[in-house]
Amino acid sequence: MRYVSTRGQAPVLGFRDVLLEGLARDGGLYVPEAWPTIEAMATGGFAGRPYVEVATEIMAPFVEPDLGRDELGQLVEAAYSSFHDPDIVPLRELGDGHWLLELFHGPTLAFKDVALQLVGRLFDHELTARGKRVTVVGATSGDTGSAAIEALADLASVEVIILHPRGRVSEVQRRQMTTVVADNVHNVAVQGTFDDCQDLVKAMFADTEFRSRVGLSAVNSINWARVMAQIVYYATAAARVAPGAPVSFSVPTGNFGNVFAGWAAAQGGLPIDQLVVASNRNDILTRFLETGEMRADGVVASLSPSMDIQVSSNFERLLFEAVDRDGESVDRLLTEFRATGAFGLESDAFDRIADRLTGHRLDDDGTLATIGQIHDELGILVDPHTAVGIAAARACRADPNVPMVTLATAHPAKFPDAVEQATGARPELPPFLAELMDRPERLTPLDNDLTTVEDFVITASGR
Ligand SMILES: *Cc1c(COP(=O)(O)O)cnc(C)c1O
Repeated sequence: MRYVSTRGQAPVLGFRDVLLEGLARDGGLYVPEAWPTIEAMATGGFAGRPYVEVATEIMAPFVEPDLGRDELGQLVEAAYSSFHDPDIVPLRELGDGHWLLELFHGPTLAFKDVALQLVGRLFDHELTARGKRVTVVGATSGDTGSAAIEALADLASVEVIILHPRGRVSEVQRRQMTTVVADNVHNVAVQGTFDDCQDLVKAMFADTEFRSRVGLSAVNSINWARVMAQIVYYATAAARVAPGAPVSFSVPTGNFGNVFAGWAAAQGGLPIDQLVVASNRNDILTRFLETGEMRADGVVASLSPSMDIQVSSNFERLLFEAVDRDGESVDRLLTEFRATGAFGLESDAFDRIADRLTGHRLDDDGTLATIGQIHDELGILVDPHTAVGIAAARACRADPNVPMVTLATAHPAKFPDAVEQATGARPELPPFLAELMDRPERLTPLDNDLTTVEDFVITASGR
């Protein structure tokens, strides 16, 4: 497979280069030159087959010829051996043909593990082949940092430095990062906010001399390989609940990577009826799907913090499809968006999206009410992100005869306060994390100062 940029100006690349490049040189995102049809996905042929096997078959056309099917298969097998459920992503029925797809059985209890456990291994495989080492630097407000650390810990080709705002992430989230014992993992607690951390990372990438000195790299959510890995569970879920027949999905959405993977599955032949884009009060996507106009608004903090976004970076990939893969149009619309905070789509382009996508928003009161309701009805605890997805699924389901699958994106124990507030029950960490609160922590507090942080990165990376 070859990959093109959504802005149409960057060089066309193969999978290995796309993996390491991340963002395209023209500021765009890489997408496959054409969507491959995956026969078994279209016909229900994956029913009853193991996750690792299905994953290898779905991803092979996206990585060949850069990476062979057997090499891919070995990396996939290793990635998912870190999961704590034999089904990797088990399904649970909520009743009336509504299912919960549990994506939180990886090492950090959030769905980001599904992609990052594989991407870490792909990175290492590629860097080792090239005889290269990189320094991955990232900022986190919670979930992404621990998923990246777990994915990259102990890899010889990578040094990983994660900045988090000191005292502003939950104790569970901090400990999931700081208790990982690996020489290549470095946690920095910055005296500042998440935005300060993000600004420091941006400034490091903008400092070209520093950037090449330490071999700076990122595994952020616009990396194509992350989207690719997420296509798989749409196919395995559909093969379980209705092989070869239409299925709908509800997706708690932030940066749009997860729901775009559902779109990609449909391009590959999976008969997806509806894709419900579930948002909290940060409802820019709901408003867009109602009106055809994307208009930015301030971000407000919610009970589902991983969905507190203003602009969904992966939306650019869908926009590219909406305008019939015309990179110039994408560039024009996003330039307008940056300048004015808004852009609108022509009705043809909008219809290509709105045909399958429906938006729904839920505020914090609704989130707590849904967590309480699911607990009362079924005795199940769900996290606030998943609750937003469940409520959206119930509100938007168009055809009761088509099964609906809500993606459960985090384990309830990751957000124990909200769950306890809603139900009176405090969710427990799974056994493999039971000692999290007793393990020693390793972190370095630093001032919110670029030179200080860069000096730390230079020392940590040994350059
Ligand atoms: C990252 C995240 C999301 C949002 O996923 P996107 O791919 O960014 O849309 C939803 N829920 C949880 C728990 C997350 O960690």
